[in-house]
Amino acid sequence: MSLLVVGSIAYDTIETPTARRENVLGGSAPFFSYAAGFFCPAQMVGVVGADWLPQYTEMFQKHGVDTAGIEIVPDGKTFRWSGKYHKNMNDRDTLETHLNVLGTFQPKLPEDYRRAQFVFLANCAPSTCLAALEQVQGADLVVADTMDLWISTTRSDLDTLLKRIDGLIINDSEAKMLTGEINTVTAARKVLTMGPKFVIVKKGEHGAMFVSEYELYVVPAFPVEDVVDPTGAGDSFAGGLMGYIASKQGNLDDETIKTALVYGTIVASFGIEGFSFDRYKEISRADIDARREAFRKITAF
Ligand code: AMP
Repeated sequence: MSLLVVGSIAYDTIETPTARRENVLGGSAPFFSYAAGFFCPAQMVGVVGADWLPQYTEMFQKHGVDTAGIEIVPDGKTFRWSGKYHKNMNDRDTLETHLNVLGTFQPKLPEDYRRAQFVFLANCAPSTCLAALEQVQGADLVVADTMDLWISTTRSDLDTLLKRIDGLIINDSEAKMLTGEINTVTAARKVLTMGPKFVIVKKGEHGAMFVSEYELYVVPAFPVEDVVDPTGAGDSFAGGLMGYIASKQGNLDDETIKTALVYGTIVASFGIEGFSFDRYKEISRADIDARREAFRKITAF
């Protein structure tokens, strides 16, 4: 069983109402693969520059993430992103984006990655996702994430991508932007007419919703009192969700989907308790399962 992720690898500068961290590890692929690593081995594809710290490669390898797909551009700089959170810790403004090596990234998948059973195209330019997808043969399940930037700047590539994937994971506001709808369920149903067989709408502190032709499931967010840094929550949610599905051999029965939504939620709830990967480095699968049980108790009725 193999779970492949293609996405951005970043150094983030994060400002919250009470703290600031400069050049910490971020990016969609790292958050996804570390979260997935709690459930199954993952293969990470992305690009970094000469400023990449080998200790990060080591951190992923120790956690069961195959890093052979990380390309290092010797005379380049790693992608940098900075964001500032509002007082509610849910909304944020992007302050700066420096694409650096990500701007010219042409993914080249190692030979053994091309037979991946499960593929996640994490947030990066739709053309990059498509270039990676063309190298994969016979995947059982292909899921993608996207963001407002690609909806407004590369819509035609995004439309092509939507026709080639099985599932889309997207924020509430982005689902509405993509479809022009104002209701989340209506927006999700409209996404289904654009290609994907299912869509998972992330609603931040209000949880997530899975919608397919005949199914609709919702899961609340785990109530975290001390939110330190929500960056990467969406990618970690996707990592926990896909990692669990991959560990179940891609079985998409209703029980697996609902449990996957819960695992995605629980993994993300740990991540936001610290900056970057700080909290993840402190926890194990046992902590995730303990919180899952607490979540079951507070949501069962
Ligand atoms: P999330 O909080 O789940 O939306 O993910 C935040 C991560 O996405 C940060 O670590 C950023 O480095 C990364 N990111 C931000 N903007 C972009 C972009 N335009 N392309 C790819 N990754 C991005």
